Amino acid sequence: MEDTRNQNMQPGLEDRVVKALIQRSQKAKDFAYCPYSKFRVGAAVLTVDGSFFTGCNVENAASNLGICAERVALSKAVSEGHQRFKAIAIASDLKDDFISPCGGCRQFLIEFGSQWNVYLTKPDGSHRCMAVEALLPAAFTPEDIQKEKKEEEKAQSVDNYG
Ligand SMILES: [Zn+2]
Repeated sequence: MEDTRNQNMQPGLEDRVVKALIQRSQKAKDFAYCPYSKFRVGAAVLTVDGSFFTGCNVENAASNLGICAERVALSKAVSEGHQRFKAIAIASDLKDDFISPCGGCRQFLIEFGSQWNVYLTKPDGSHRCMAVEALLPAAFTPEDIQKEKKEEEKAQSVDNYG
């Protein structure tokens, strides 16, 4: 069943594009390296110029070194010169739940904009679409780094660099 609520999604993604994106995320899931959790995840991102990049989760015996499928897909895209995205689809083997990105991945997604689409999917291809900003309310974003600092810090930075 498709959830059609629009939560500040980017407009204009055709059904066939969404389907292609979801299929890529499902295919990427087949490559998941998850001997510890046995929890396979795949992700596929669509760049604004129409390129696709995929990723799967890659676990490690030193468990904190594992990386999620979403971050693999995004890092592959960024490492090949893409930083603007239309959408990401995430796939797992959970039959009854739409797979949802972890907190770390939500922060990773919002680094590249708050208003692009995240397709949370089930293996049958059904999906729920949410905007990145809806998944991470009150986020700390790249814009926060640029904001005006408090007066004394500004004065200090003038002292240091002025
Ligand atoms: Zn994650």
